[in-house]
Amino acid sequence: MTAHQPQPGETRQPPPVTALTYAQKAGWACCFCGKDIWTGAVSAGIARGRSGAHVLDVEVFACPDCQKTATPGDQR
Ligand SMILES: [Zn+2]
Repeated sequence: MTAHQPQPGETRQPPPVTALTYAQKAGWACCFCGKDIWTGAVSAGIARGRSGAHVLDVEVFACPDCQKTATPGDQR
């Protein structure tokens, strides 16, 4: 049972919460490449995660570079 529906323009799922650094979870750094985001942050969706009974889902952000490369056709 998944409630998440892909949105138009949403082509790449963020990594799981457990793979993210504190800065990435806080939205200060790109969730894909880990670079600090100063301008042009784009929402990358919700990183999913849980620890026991605790849901750790958090909205994460991508830098403009990663947003550009996250287009169809860039996949394997
Ligand atoms: Zn990036």
